[in-house]
Formats: sequence, structure tokens, C-alpha cells
Amino acid sequence: MTQTLPTTNAGIAQAAQLLAQGELVAFPTETVYGLGGDARSDTAVARIFEAKARPRFNPLIVHLPDLEAAREVAVFDATAERVASAFWPGPLTLVLPLRPSARLSPLVTADLPSVAIRVPAHPVARQLLRAFGAPVAAPSANPSGKVSPTRAEHVLAGLSGRIAAVVDGGACAVGLESTILGLTGAPELLRPGGIPSEAIEACLGQPLSAASDGAKPTAPGQLRSHYAPRATLRLNVMEPEAGEFWLGFGPDAGQAALNLSDSGDLVEAAANLFHFLREADARAEGRIGVSPIPEKGLGRAINDRLRRAAAPRG
Ligand code: AMP
Ligand code: MG
Repeated sequence: MTQTLPTTNAGIAQAAQLLAQGELVAFPTETVYGLGGDARSDTAVARIFEAKARPRFNPLIVHLPDLEAAREVAVFDATAERVASAFWPGPLTLVLPLRPSARLSPLVTADLPSVAIRVPAHPVARQLLRAFGAPVAAPSANPSGKVSPTRAEHVLAGLSGRIAAVVDGGACAVGLESTILGLTGAPELLRPGGIPSEAIEACLGQPLSAASDGAKPTAPGQLRSHYAPRATLRLNVMEPEAGEFWLGFGPDAGQAALNLSDSGDLVEAAANLFHFLREADARAEGRIGVSPIPEKGLGRAINDRLRRAAAPRG
């Protein structure tokens, strides 16, 4: 059952408590309703992908109550400070270098060294972020491939029974997604949205480069610098070869050196995926064999990531 919570202090407090328990809570922002989860929790973020049935681990936007909190998650240079002061709180997302000390789940950033962050203007979103007191990962609160929700009823129509709660703050004002500005190199418009690019150009005093193909990432494999293991990966391994490090999945892989989920739970496997790929890469002597992962639910996103990691590299 998905609860509908009011925007009273008690409703917000309950929403914050659910987030602290690793549960998912949809909440209004000035753009669209976001599907929030604790950005530091691997399990909470894995559940976001599961609830939306996203077929890929694309990176998510991290929401913070103010600029000060945002500075703890990302590195701000003078340009970033300038646009943040001009447009936050508001529908602008900045892609900035990630601070490792933020301890975000690698699922949030698709294991990239950059992070997308935003300070929303909606009073309910800000109140919830303050009450929770930690970064919240939140893509739009709709099943993958469906229209973004601008009312609590839309959220329930798509996700009822799949998330703990929705905070009902009425209709969203902008109804458009946030503009995404890449600031890890020359300022780049990664996605048009609620803040017009002209306004950003006027603030920066320079034109934005339009996103080149490689710069408009929809999936980690399309991003310019995603983590690829040094070792080679062999998929669908039921029995490892001699010298191969076995990254297992499920009870059939009892002999595996590491098991993504002993019980065969896909949420657990997704939560472990990036951590275990790194560990396997550090411990393997050149070759990793990975158990078959069922091509259903989160298994599709896991297999998508594994196929990219296994693809030949130049
Ligand atoms: P959504 O969460 O559905 O609004 O989508 C988030 C958007 O931000 C996607 O287009 C992502 O590719 C983009 N994005 C999120 N994190 C990063 C990042 N670290 N680097 C580049 N783009 C990102
Ligand atoms: Mg969306």
C-alpha cells in the first residue's frame, strides 16, 4: 500500500522517517514529482530503479535543501557558484565533480566521478530535504518510458503499491524537467528544461556549447568516462575456468569468490553491483566470470551494465 501524506509538519516528518528507513517517497518539486530515496543507501537507490522498471542504471539527480549542503556533495568552482547563486533554488541541475567524502551510493552517479545536483524551489521539497538532512536521489516519479507526473494522482496511477508514500502537494508549477548544465568542462547544455539557456548564457556572459553526442548521456556506457574494469569479463558463467575470478549470483554459485546475492535477490544484487565489480577487479588476476542474471526486473539493468563492462575496449 502506498500512503498519501499531507504537507503538514507531521506528514513531512513521516516522509523523512520513511526515507531514513530506506523507503521510497514521491514528493512535489516545482518541475515534476520526484521519486525520492536516500542517495547514500545502495538499497534505496536500487529500489528506485526497480520501482520505475528502468532498464539501465543511468545516473540520477541528487536533491539538496540549499547551496551549503550542495557544496558538501560536489566541488563548486567560481562558475558553478555563480550560476547556483543566480538560479537556486530553482529548476536548474548542475553536473559537477563529485566529492568522494559525500559517500553517495555509486548507483546514483552510475559510478562516475561527477554528480548531478539541484536545490528545488518547491517549499514542500525543501521542507522534506531539511527534515531528512541528507542527499535525496530523485528521478521523476513515473514508470520508465511514461509521462512525468505533475500531480500526486499521476504518481499513484503509475507507482501505487511500488513505493511507500507520496506527499500530496497539489499540482507542480513548471511541469517541465530541470535544465541540466554540465560544468565538469566548458559549460554545456546537457538537457533543456525549466530555465531557458539564454538566461544561463546571460549569467555566465558566454555562450553554452550544445551537448555533443557523447555529452548527452542517457546511460553510463554513453558517458565519456565511466568505470570500466581492467579485467576481462565473461558472462553467463555457471562454472569458472581455472584462474578466473567468479562473481556469482544466487544459491547455484555457492563456490563463487563473491556473490552479488546469495539468495538470488535482484535488489540486493543491484545494490552490490558497482562495489563488487570494483572488488572483483582488484582481486582478479585478469579475468572475471559472472553468473547468469535473470533478464527480468532489475536484472535487465544489471545485465545492461555487465554487457557494457564485458564489451571489447579500444
Ligand atoms: P532524471 O533523473 O530522470 O531527471 O534524469 C537525470 C538526467 O541527468 C539524465 O539525463 C542523466 O543522464 C543526467 N545526469 C545525471 N547525473 C549525471 C552525471 N553525473 N553526469 C552527466 N549527466 C548526468
Ligand atoms: Mg523522467
